[in-house]
Amino acid sequence: MLTLRTACGFLSNDSTMSSADLHLSKLPHIGTNIFTTMSGLAAQYNAVNLAQGFPDFDVPSYLIERVTHHMQHGKNQYAPMAGVLSLREKLAIKYASVYGIAFDPADEITITCGATEACFSVLTAFIKPGDEVIIIEPAFDCYEPAILLNGGKPVFVKTIYPDFHIDWQQVEEAITSRTRLIILNSPHNPTGTVYTKEDVQALRALLQRHDLLVLSDEVYEHMVFDGLHHHCLAADPFIKERTLTVGSFGKTYHATGWRLGFCAAPAYLTKEFRKVHQYNTFSAVTPIQHAVSDMLDDTDWHHNLSSFFQSKRNYFLNLIKHSGFKSIPTQGTYFQLLSYAAVSDKKEADMANWMVKEMKLAAIPVSVFYHDKTDQQILRFCFAKKDETLQQAAEILCKI
Ligand code: GLN
Repeated sequence: MLTLRTACGFLSNDSTMSSADLHLSKLPHIGTNIFTTMSGLAAQYNAVNLAQGFPDFDVPSYLIERVTHHMQHGKNQYAPMAGVLSLREKLAIKYASVYGIAFDPADEITITCGATEACFSVLTAFIKPGDEVIIIEPAFDCYEPAILLNGGKPVFVKTIYPDFHIDWQQVEEAITSRTRLIILNSPHNPTGTVYTKEDVQALRALLQRHDLLVLSDEVYEHMVFDGLHHHCLAADPFIKERTLTVGSFGKTYHATGWRLGFCAAPAYLTKEFRKVHQYNTFSAVTPIQHAVSDMLDDTDWHHNLSSFFQSKRNYFLNLIKHSGFKSIPTQGTYFQLLSYAAVSDKKEADMANWMVKEMKLAAIPVSVFYHDKTDQQILRFCFAKKDETLQQAAEILCKI
């Protein structure tokens, strides 16, 4: 019997595997992921759900109106494999105006079924058996399984607690002749760290010494706080030449369930990316692509998103300032890490399990984002919630 690594401490039914299962499974160490598990427990125990990262408020009504319009006007068959052209064109305009980056909508932008599909297609397109891929931990959970399924080897480098900065020297030391790609993520899930100018310079220097590809997960690009800026890695021409940038319309438009993301990359990389995407999902949902294309005309939306979420973060932190939970500063994303070391000596998984069942509040143990389950007594809370939801959560936190 083998204990599963993911979502440890939460699973009962499938937390062990027989040798027959082991023989069958391509991912014997991977269980049902933490988001599925915690959202399930939140529903089962009728708990306030600050675990899985999704807003509990609505998408803009204009977007609903546009999806309905396009569904009623015949936009219901396959979209082009690369994505609806007007959406790719508007995204290219946004990249030029927000970051000064030129992406050619014809052969450098592909619309995907969420950022998760984009990451999977990148890793499938470029990772061959035996290739090593650097993952900076803590790390979002979709990278490692995609590497494993392609016969690659994840190589983990930890950021430095408590500000979770990258030690680029350690990254360099992890590179071998087999290293093919490095995965970077800013604004960072789950820590909320935002890469600095110095990080970008360090990355460029690294790429000048080592021939690597970069998968840059930038799905929280429009959620950056306290006057900081998102550094899109592709804004550096040398980095851009070897980088696949992944983004998410679901995050930007409060519509995570619509599963709409994209991958932007130089043509020679996009050509390979599309070979996988076309046989993975072929194309993303047509009327939604048209609606998001219409929505992109509203440039105020993405410009105002950071201040919208910064207010949410501040509102939440203010409500819990007298609780025993200590905030670890978040610079971006819609996640807040809280240390509970002052109120409990439980392990993170046990604390999250106890909180959802006994206190009716769901959060994510940060240890699940480490391959070795590093435990720092911190939990991740999603503050993309209505004020009343944040109030309910804060009341519970103040009681613990
Ligand atoms: N990105 C979301 C989070 O970190 C969850 C995505 C998912 O459920 N797959 O909470």
